[in-house]
Amino acid sequence: MPAPLQPVRGMRDLIGEDVRRHRHVAETARRIAERYGFEEWITPILEDTAVFARTLGETSDVVTKEMYTFTDRGGDSVTLRPENTAGVCRALVSNGLVQSLPRKVFYAGPMFRYERPQKGRYRQFHQIGIEILGAAEPLADAECIACGWDILCELGVAEGTALEINTLGDAASRESWRAALVGYFSAHREALSEDSRVRLEKNPLRILDSKDPGDRALLAAAPRMEEHLSAEARGFYEEVKRALRRLAVPFRENPAIVRGLDYYSHTAFEFVTDRLGAQGTVMAGGRYNGLVEEMGGPPTPSVGWAAGIERLAMLLPGAPPAPRPVAVIPAGEAAEDAALGLTQALRRAGIVAEIAYRGSMKRRLERANKTHARAAVILGEAELAAGIAQVKDLDSGAQEAVPIAEIAARLA
Ligand code: ATP
Ligand code: MG
Repeated sequence: MPAPLQPVRGMRDLIGEDVRRHRHVAETARRIAERYGFEEWITPILEDTAVFARTLGETSDVVTKEMYTFTDRGGDSVTLRPENTAGVCRALVSNGLVQSLPRKVFYAGPMFRYERPQKGRYRQFHQIGIEILGAAEPLADAECIACGWDILCELGVAEGTALEINTLGDAASRESWRAALVGYFSAHREALSEDSRVRLEKNPLRILDSKDPGDRALLAAAPRMEEHLSAEARGFYEEVKRALRRLAVPFRENPAIVRGLDYYSHTAFEFVTDRLGAQGTVMAGGRYNGLVEEMGGPPTPSVGWAAGIERLAMLLPGAPPAPRPVAVIPAGEAAEDAALGLTQALRRAGIVAEIAYRGSMKRRLERANKTHARAAVILGEAELAAGIAQVKDLDSGAQEAVPIAEIAARLA
């Protein structure tokens, strides 16, 4: 016998309760996002490698270490999407939608990153996310965050989860801050991790995102963005905070929030929980003003977030229950056809109904218990002639003769 095949490392099958949790997260998010006026887009899982290489930053962790990139049969370099923001921006441009802004987009689907697998961290994982494309107003940032907060509330995971926000400033603020950081880190070069010494040369802001304990210790005394904010950027940030208060979204400021990708400016935010150990970020995003341009479109200021479905699914207070079927059970061969007909009538009336393909009445009752059926409808030959069947509540055991024409209404 050949050895049983396994899923690819870091990828897993979702079955049973896992699927119900997963679907509950995605469907709840979709419903709440719709309430805010977002429309769902479904973009391809595979994109031209340039879509990500151009936009996520040549030195970002995702691009340097985590992308699933390969050459297809036609010789083109393609990449399994590590995130969906770049794909949505690409789609905006490819579909000629840059004339009809703003657009509010929701998405849900699988993402792929070649990371070291651990609890809450997979190589195929799933995200929900929203993007507001073509809105430069701070109100867009606030509404985007408010929608995320409402989703967390609706999922029942808001307790123990906190919103942390920060501003990364505009280009001028960033340039001045960056220069200050280079000065500071250069003076402490010997204390930096090896990775961060490379970052210092290539992209010093990324040191702020380092998970190395030594780097993190240095960060405590590093120059702060706050001291380098232009008046305009400061005003923008104040507006975002004011709108958040009006939208009744609780937040705290955390100057350490910098986000791992290159394309952010102004608002950056994370929803963090203390309930998932090291994998504490459940939803993260910010404003990105140059991304659509990178795709060949016009300047399109935008803001959005993404959240890991797996992490949200783990936080859910409970798993949504599986639907409980009604088991239709013919007692004797002559009742088989009538049972099949009744099963279908129940389904078409919106009731979850199952009929076993074969077996004695006793076996079929056992199967009904196994599928956790809520009721059994037992069709005996004699009763059938009188147009009735026995409806048995499988929780209480109570049984009652019901006219066949009334069964659907009785079980609804
Ligand atoms: P981290 O710092 O944990 O690596 P990140 O900054 O790479 O996160 P984002 O790119 O902002 O994460 O993605 C948004 C969300 O997607 C994360 O907050 C997390 O919930 C989820 N996520 C990211 N990578 C993974 C993964 N490998 N497995 C499961 N979920 C993930
Ligand atoms: Mg990561």
